[in-house]
Amino acid sequence: MRPAILFPLFAEIRTLSGVGPKLEKLIQKVAGPRLVDLVFDLPVGVVDRSYQPKLAAAEPGRIATVTVTVLEHRPGRVKSQPYKVMVSDETAMMELVFFRAHADYLAKQLPLGETRVLSGRIERFKDRLQMTHPDYVVALEDIASFPLHEPIYPLTEGLTARPMAKAVRGALEKVPEMPEWQDPAFVKQRKWDVFGAALETAHGPAHDSDLAPTTPARQRLAYDELLANQLALLLIRANLRGGKGRVISGTGKLKARAIAALPFTLTDPQLSALAEIEQDMGSEKRMLRLLQGDVGSGKTIVALLAMLKAVEDGLQAALMAPTELLVRQHLASLEPYAAAAGIRLACLTGREKGAGRETTLAKLAAGEIDILVGTHALFSEDVTFKDLGLAVVDEQHRFGVHQRMQLQSKGKPADVLVMTATPIPRTLALTAYGDMDVSKITGRPPGRKPVETRVMGAARMDDLIAHLRIALDRGARAYWVCPLVEESEKIDLAAAQERAVMLRQALGLNVGLIHGKMKAAERDAAMTAFKAGETQLLVATTVIEVGVDVPEATIMVVEHAERFGLAQLHQLRGRVGRGSGKSSCILLWHEPLGVTAKARLKTMRETDDGFVIAEEDLRLRGPGEVLGKRQSGMEEFRMADPAAHADLLAVAHDDARLILTRDPDLKSPRGNALRVLLYLFGRDEAVRYLRTG
Ligand code: ADP
Ligand code: MG
Repeated sequence: MRPAILFPLFAEIRTLSGVGPKLEKLIQKVAGPRLVDLVFDLPVGVVDRSYQPKLAAAEPGRIATVTVTVLEHRPGRVKSQPYKVMVSDETAMMELVFFRAHADYLAKQLPLGETRVLSGRIERFKDRLQMTHPDYVVALEDIASFPLHEPIYPLTEGLTARPMAKAVRGALEKVPEMPEWQDPAFVKQRKWDVFGAALETAHGPAHDSDLAPTTPARQRLAYDELLANQLALLLIRANLRGGKGRVISGTGKLKARAIAALPFTLTDPQLSALAEIEQDMGSEKRMLRLLQGDVGSGKTIVALLAMLKAVEDGLQAALMAPTELLVRQHLASLEPYAAAAGIRLACLTGREKGAGRETTLAKLAAGEIDILVGTHALFSEDVTFKDLGLAVVDEQHRFGVHQRMQLQSKGKPADVLVMTATPIPRTLALTAYGDMDVSKITGRPPGRKPVETRVMGAARMDDLIAHLRIALDRGARAYWVCPLVEESEKIDLAAAQERAVMLRQALGLNVGLIHGKMKAAERDAAMTAFKAGETQLLVATTVIEVGVDVPEATIMVVEHAERFGLAQLHQLRGRVGRGSGKSSCILLWHEPLGVTAKARLKTMRETDDGFVIAEEDLRLRGPGEVLGKRQSGMEEFRMADPAAHADLLAVAHDDARLILTRDPDLKSPRGNALRVLLYLFGRDEAVRYLRTG
């Protein structure tokens, strides 16, 4: 249960004075539903009103605070004209401009002959000084009522800066005095304030430099959040492991049949990864293992063999993939082996509906399905396995940390195997996964030829198209990827469409187009046509990044390669070189080519080792960006920025371990304070795993 000290902070926003239902809705949209969300919503800017010039000396365009006398009111002659008020100080005159003004209100605010303090942006219009809609108009004696430095919070349409700032201020006043949950010596060494004071400082910036993640106040708050995150992950993990799994020993029968049906032999790295997985499954502890391996390194087959082991023991297995397309592909590649092994395979995605879906669910609950492949639809509440032994999550960085623990099973908790093609540097793994055990499949399956990588300026597009024509005439199949930048999805989509038209004309060939905005069925159709060779060239936005298996494709062109991250480029390149043909990857760059982009392209030309590329990526971009925010589970942070606070993250990780070693149930005085910290950051779930103190 949440400690009483936190009750005020978990009150709803409407409990603040001055916040009605309409304002509450808007604030909820930008911050969240409770006061604590406002408190954690740190300013993103600051308006400095401390510039207080005489009018004659006021720099146009700057926010200024001036003291003036009201000279004259000039209402607009017609409604569309602005209402003007003339003011002056001893040096110059200025015109205040109000659109759609209420005369009564202005007469009261700016009485003739009185002195007022105004704050707003001063502009020079022809020879006149103007201030349109001053932000503040106050009497001299009320000057303390407006801040010379005004924090700016993220806003949304309909929500303006002042009510938002006022709400945050109101929430801050409700922050109780907290017990110190950090080690006092550490806080002292870092010269940090206590939590409440740090919050005050972080919400009271005077200059842009006060907004930096490196200020002591922001560091303290980030560390609080990171420690809560690391403690929670360790507790959840300890619980998952502590909870007895089951011993899955398997008979080896199905595995033998599947292996006999493989058209290849497993590589040594595949065999050792499988051995590690089998050992975990065979032990009483619950498995929590990350299987890392480059795109195409052969993870899926390893996962299949692990799933068969569960099936041998009469249990079920699930394989989750992030997209419909990947699910279909997994299904297609598993089917022959499932048939060879004689097991029942089924599929569940958002597309399965109605009676078909009902049947699948019923069979699943009755244990008549051995392996279920699906998208996040598998997480739906009505999906219940009879007895799930193993859950495999493919490219899981697209799922949340909590989601993947939520699979419903009537049986004991399932073992969990997470597969990722993006090697994850340690610091990132810490925030997203806590400490999972890791198996790696290094290298690629034998027989794969390396992909020749060429980096080329877009100015040479004509050359490229000429070469492409020759290759396509000989029957080659090629991808042409256009970048999709989230902010301007529409524009980029148009660019991809345009490119498809251009290539169709230039090559006189059937050119396919595939993008994220297409309906799943259309996308599948485009993919199928490409697989079947009906279209030899497929123009794509990055939807193909996630995983498409067309071994006949040997050419990958990436346009605007300078806009892609290394991991993405590597994934894209991994789409070719899957068959027996010699493959190439052409990275087209457009001006301007920055230093980092240049370094990325160089790395791509020099290596195709995913682990080397991941390290280089981390070096070039910093940890926060290597995986998207969502992908890394980092959206869980409000005040910490794992990129900017990477050093603190590492410290928090070690700190959390030490804390739990010494005080596993958080019963000491500091332990009790840490419980408050966990609740404060909404890690209630983790506290539930503690024995009551
Ligand atoms: P990943 O899931 O790691 O991206 P996949 O399991 O999809 O890789 O394997 C990619 C391709 O390589 C598949 O067509 C698969 O059949 C093939 N493959 C897997 N293991 C081997 C192996 N040991 N030798 C040859 N080909 C393999
Ligand atoms: Mg795969």
